[in-house]
Amino acid sequence: MSLRRVLFNLTKTNSVFSLRFKNQKLYYYYVDKSNFPLIILTNALQYSSESPSKCWNCNFISKSELFCSKCKVLQEPPENLTYFDIMGIPKSYDVTVSEVQKKYKELQKLLHPDKFSRKSEKEKELSDHFSSLVNKAYSTLSHPLKRGLYMLKLNNVMISEETDNVNAVFLMEIMEKNEEIDEAENNEEKIKKLVEENERILSNLTKNVGDAFRKEDIKKAETLLIQMKYYDTINNRLKKLKHDLGIIE
Ligand SMILES: [Zn+2]
Repeated sequence: MSLRRVLFNLTKTNSVFSLRFKNQKLYYYYVDKSNFPLIILTNALQYSSESPSKCWNCNFISKSELFCSKCKVLQEPPENLTYFDIMGIPKSYDVTVSEVQKKYKELQKLLHPDKFSRKSEKEKELSDHFSSLVNKAYSTLSHPLKRGLYMLKLNNVMISEETDNVNAVFLMEIMEKNEEIDEAENNEEKIKKLVEENERILSNLTKNVGDAFRKEDIKKAETLLIQMKYYDTINNRLKKLKHDLGIIE
């Protein structure tokens, strides 16, 4: 479809239209002014103008929206959307949990099953599918370790389960930490102290991982995330201990 044709359709539909260049490709997106929160649509769903497609329900060319601007039917989530695209947030390690939470709530509201109870089977199916994508995106992006591992994956880096490439000194440190926890087992004060210590380490690592991604130093991010994985395991162990001891904060 030609750009002129797109523009022509848009003038008929009371939409906001925007163009941008990214990676030497022209992207366009448009949103229905009267309809849904602009922020989700503008940030979340942008497609290359090379492959415009149609609404599955009414054939209207409006695939760059969550809902068709003509018949208002929920659209199929395009393939290859990243979790960042789905949540409508910039692809950055530095996203805050509250930012992710806010978007999650917005999308949850739009995709709430109640809104689809009287819709067609296809729309119900789509909203289920979209909801499960949104849930996955949320749980991944709101967790510092999972978010980091996901970003490595986007850079085609997978961390293996093996410990071969982990520094021996570091492994020693982790073993000692676990011994410390063994010894503290029933001592509430000691457990609390270990929790604090571990949280400090994790938040430092989070900060450093952010620095590495910002500098596009993927190797460094990988090294730090491997460490974070061990401390996250310790964190889970401590949480369980806290729970078993009935420590509430
Ligand atoms: Zn439609």
